[in-house]
Amino acid sequence: MKILVINSGSSSIKFQLFMMPEKTVVCSGLVERIGFNDSEIHYKSDSSKIDEIAQITNHRVGLEKIVNLLLDEKAGVIKTTSEVAAIGHRVVHGGGSFSKTTIINQEVKDKIKALFSLAPQHNPPNYEGIVVAESFFPTSIQIAVFDTAFHQTIPIEAYKYSIPNKLLDENNIRKYGFHGTSHKYVSEKAIAHLGIKNSKIITIHLGNGCSMTAVKNGKSIDTTLGFGPVTGLIMGSRSGDIDHSIIFYLVNELGYNLDEVNSMLQKESGMLGLTGYNDLRDIEMEAKRGNTECQLALDMNAYRIKKYIGSFAAIMNGLDAIIFTAGIGENSNVIRKLVCSNMESFGIVLDKEKNRVRAKQLTEIHSDNSKTKILIIPTNEEVEIAKQSFELIK
Ligand code: ADP
Repeated sequence: MKILVINSGSSSIKFQLFMMPEKTVVCSGLVERIGFNDSEIHYKSDSSKIDEIAQITNHRVGLEKIVNLLLDEKAGVIKTTSEVAAIGHRVVHGGGSFSKTTIINQEVKDKIKALFSLAPQHNPPNYEGIVVAESFFPTSIQIAVFDTAFHQTIPIEAYKYSIPNKLLDENNIRKYGFHGTSHKYVSEKAIAHLGIKNSKIITIHLGNGCSMTAVKNGKSIDTTLGFGPVTGLIMGSRSGDIDHSIIFYLVNELGYNLDEVNSMLQKESGMLGLTGYNDLRDIEMEAKRGNTECQLALDMNAYRIKKYIGSFAAIMNGLDAIIFTAGIGENSNVIRKLVCSNMESFGIVLDKEKNRVRAKQLTEIHSDNSKTKILIIPTNEEVEIAKQSFELIK
């Protein structure tokens, strides 16, 4: 059966059509830089390859473009949308309502919508993806795969915040964690590759959003993102950890209102706030040219990751491997080198030559004398979503 996976994210829409259960990719592609004049459209099937620059103003326009490509007389791979048995959608925040993959109906959509305020950059484009897909694929089963689901194994001492008990008991305010589909996928690949039974692994997902997870014996036991997707690492435009007294200072002393503060922390902070650039490629290039702000931002970014490696190694009482994944983790030898330098006491020794890659497959980049393995594992949230969708409906 054919399963289409849609990952409708903050600035990009990735899609892949799978033949299941074989996991064969029938076609794949992405629309990126949504909202810019020079959005990119990439599409690939066995017989065609299309790369285009166009103005894709929003996610609806992007999704329409994808559907037209799938149905295109020359480049397309389906004659009618009813060939697609199911559509698996990545949904970032499942809140307290969803701990596993779920068939979408009106009630599920309402709950995803009710969670907009917790993931304002993600649940709205995820939701938009569902609504547009429903209109183009009326006969396909729509399925939601939640980023929060893998983190349901985090123990209470890690997910509970030290705030009044009733906020957890009555309002479900707790750490949820995100990027779960990616952390699950790469940690399973790592465990299979390492062939060890009792494994202590840290997965480092560095994309526009960034997070790390401590994965002990295949289960998430802690992660850097929390109640919303804004804590932990320094991200493309999200701040990561800050002292929350800054929020009160901004409001009470500097006259910001809460919406402005929220928008600042989600959309104007992180690498963008530190450098004026969102894309790490630009920041690396500027740092190379001698831009000290950009170099400092790269150093701060790596420093934060190191801090969490130490913290997660402590809670697992050991470390077998660290895994780099997602756009930055797979491609940026600069960030990987900064993170892995001076980490010998954690058994981490990078092979600088092996690190000089943009990895398209699982790649070992540690030195022969590194006790802790360092792996790049390209994430594939799409195949994981297809797998989980197929399992649910087969
Ligand atoms: P998301 O899925 O969260 O939108 P991705 O996983 O696609 O994000 O990662 C996007 C990030 O990856 C961007 O910051 C981009 O700069 C970075 N990236 C992609 N290719 C490279 C590269 N060759 N070198 C450095 N960073 C890269």
